[in-house]
Amino acid sequence: MHTEEVDTIIIGGGLSGIYAAFLLAEKKKSLVLLEARSRVGGRILSPEHQGFFADLGPSWYWPMINPKLNALIQTMGLKGYPRSGPILVLANDQPETKRTDTDNGP
Ligand SMILES: Cc1cc2nc3c(=O)[nH]c(=O)nc-3n(C[C@H](O)[C@H](O)[C@H](O)COP(=O)(O)OP(=O)(O)OC[C@H]3O[C@@H](n4cnc5c(N)ncnc54)[C@H](O)[C@@H]3O)c2cc1C
Repeated sequence: MHTEEVDTIIIGGGLSGIYAAFLLAEKKKSLVLLEARSRVGGRILSPEHQGFFADLGPSWYWPMINPKLNALIQTMGLKGYPRSGPILVLANDQPETKRTDTDNGP
């Protein structure tokens, strides 16, 4: 049986686990990340159908409220888009337009 010694074992390959691995790798720490599913990403999910990707979350962040996430997005060179237009919310099966202004999105 193959055995290996590592500094850290991370359980779960969602955003938290992947970010923990990123920070440890930056510090040159050895690690193993254990993920129960056949894919990483956890609740992050964008299934593809006929060349189109459905965004099943997460998609929104607020730079003022989530400055660490905003910094990470900048570090990774990812692009954010400001949200605009109304939000349609389904509550108790009743569609309701919640907002018509623009969030302070990225
Ligand atoms: C539909 C939807 C929309 C969302 N929209 C937003 C949004 O707009 N903005 C926002 O900020 N957040 C949003 N979120 C929340 C965001 O997705 C989560 O907060 C974030 O992805 C959680 O990451 P996590 O790594 O903490 O947990 P998870 O993504 O749940 O990852 C945990 C991982 O651990 C694995 N795991 C669990 N137990 C074990 C085990 N015993 N052994 C090995 N692996 C294990 C799981 O398989 C999973 O991959 C949304 C979530 C959903 C579902």
